[in-house]
Amino acid sequence: MSEKEYIIKEIDGELKVIEWKEKNPPLMQCGHAANALWQSPKEFGNKDIWSCVICDGKESHVIAKQPDLEGRTARCTYFGKKKPRRRYANDECNYGCRGKLICQCGAIKSSFELPFFEYRPNEPQDEFYCGCFGWD
Ligand SMILES: [Zn+2]
Ligand SMILES: [Zn+2]
Ligand SMILES: [Zn+2]
Repeated sequence: MSEKEYIIKEIDGELKVIEWKEKNPPLMQCGHAANALWQSPKEFGNKDIWSCVICDGKESHVIAKQPDLEGRTARCTYFGKKKPRRRYANDECNYGCRGKLICQCGAIKSSFELPFFEYRPNEPQDEFYCGCFGWD
């Protein structure tokens, strides 16, 4: 991913991403991969730009310097945890543990496209959510 694919402008002393031309979600400064769209200020045309709804702070609108994920793996937040029986029918994992009693998604290839992906440069693994507890 080259840095030319997005435009960053300074608004009120803050750097904001005004336009993103890639379909793939980029990593945001809060550490999560973008997971939602946010509307840019009127002076920048009310454009939809990538954002993070988990954090919803000013850093969640700013694209980070894109790290190289080569060789990194991510594990589900619920890895190794028993899925709640009450919601067992809602097990909607798309990464290999669907139907299992315990989440087994402990080493999925890191990608900004994984749901709720969080880049953790200081940890051995990144984190994401595989869907094992459902999507409600
Ligand atoms: Zn975030
Ligand atoms: Zn899973
Ligand atoms: Zn899981």
